[in-house]
Amino acid sequence: MTDRRTLIWWSTGAASFVAAQLTLRDNPEAIVARCETGNEDPDNYRFEADAMRRLNTSVTLLRSTEFSDVWEVWQKRRYMSGIAGAPCTSAMKIAPRIEFQRPTDIHVFGYTADREDVDRFERLKENYFELTVRAPLIDAGITKAASLAIVQKSGLELPRSYAMGFPNANCLQTGCVKATSPDYWSLYRHHFPENFARTAAYAREIGARLTRIKGERMFIDEIPDDWPMTNPIIPACDFLCALADNDNEPMEKAA
Ligand code: SF4
Repeated sequence: MTDRRTLIWWSTGAASFVAAQLTLRDNPEAIVARCETGNEDPDNYRFEADAMRRLNTSVTLLRSTEFSDVWEVWQKRRYMSGIAGAPCTSAMKIAPRIEFQRPTDIHVFGYTADREDVDRFERLKENYFELTVRAPLIDAGITKAASLAIVQKSGLELPRSYAMGFPNANCLQTGCVKATSPDYWSLYRHHFPENFARTAAYAREIGARLTRIKGERMFIDEIPDDWPMTNPIIPACDFLCALADNDNEPMEKAA
């Protein structure tokens, strides 16, 4: 008997489903964990319920003791994203994780065998050398496309965000404030016009220019109506999110 826990970091997406499936097959005691942002798309919660039933397990939700959701973090801090990072990441994801984890834990991630994910996993190992980490999809050579196929073949209905064209589904109730890509915000506005308007109005109120066009920081409601949605870049909100991130340049602090 060992008290060494295996934590599967569940993101409500296809890759982490496959990582959980592979891990639980060998270790049924592994813990499926997710940091609750209170800000996910309702269909992600539907997929989570379906996936947990299929895996015959349940998800352990790690919550902030200070904030109920991402929106509350922004309002209380009057800060969305900038040179100090995104406060929602620290409050809703990093603090609850640090509170929960033990030095002896084994951390399992759904990084896929695609080049970008392999590089990101390498960066994770360099930055968190003190942690024991695993990426079973990389070990098995399973790409993102393959993980989507595995989920569909298993009869589970994927979260709707995939068909909408989002590269990841984090925080779709507001849009992710770490995304500077105008294509991302254009896509978000297309699918979630009311939520976009709410996020845009608050960004205006506190002076947060969340996007960048031709090198110029802009408010997201300044993105032209016909802006393309073809290349919506959004950083993953994982362990690396709090570090200086090549995916995302710093923005000015809100007023
Ligand atoms: S996904 Fe984006 S909005 Fe959500 S917690 Fe992470 S940085 Fe904040």
